[in-house]
Amino acid sequence: CSNQSSNGIFLPHLIASLEQVDQTYIMVKPDGVQRGLVGEIITRFEKKGFKLTGLKLFKCSKDLAEEHYKDLKGKSFFPKLIDYITSGPVVCMAWEGVGVVASARKLIGSTDPLQAEPGTIRGDLAVQTGRNIVHGSDSPDNGKREIGLWFNEAELVHWTPAQAAWLRE
Ligand code: ADP
Repeated sequence: CSNQSSNGIFLPHLIASLEQVDQTYIMVKPDGVQRGLVGEIITRFEKKGFKLTGLKLFKCSKDLAEEHYKDLKGKSFFPKLIDYITSGPVVCMAWEGVGVVASARKLIGSTDPLQAEPGTIRGDLAVQTGRNIVHGSDSPDNGKREIGLWFNEAELVHWTPAQAAWLRE
């Protein structure tokens, strides 16, 4: 068995505990909120089996939007992007799990909804890059950074879902 050490001791729970639990920041953008897609989007992450640790409806300031998207500051679409993100309420979410960052990006689909695969959120529910309804962090480090940007520590809840033992052996 591949989970055996050289002296034959069986190590499955040790291996499980060594798996990195990551956090990702997911946000339903103003178009997703206005189009009534909040429940649909939350459902995709819930059904997959990730753990929700933070959730709020929020109207963000220009400063926060600019800080969140600071890596895109030089892009021609940056001013439009900031107007879009601050144009109405967003739903901010923190999700946790092994592999959650990369998996959430797959569930969301490509930046351009017309290129996004059917079955993904953007592939199923959107048609244009400038109205692509949802954000997901692109790395574990950015997941931590963005959750810190959008949530206070007191808004994050550390809990064990009842289904945990049925999701991972
Ligand atoms: P993603 O959200 O898929 O990680 P990026 O980090 O490249 O994509 O871009 C952040 C967001 O900026 C996109 O989700 C989209 O809302 C917006 N955006 C990116 N490229 C364009 C573009 N060419 N025109 C308008 N908006 C854009």
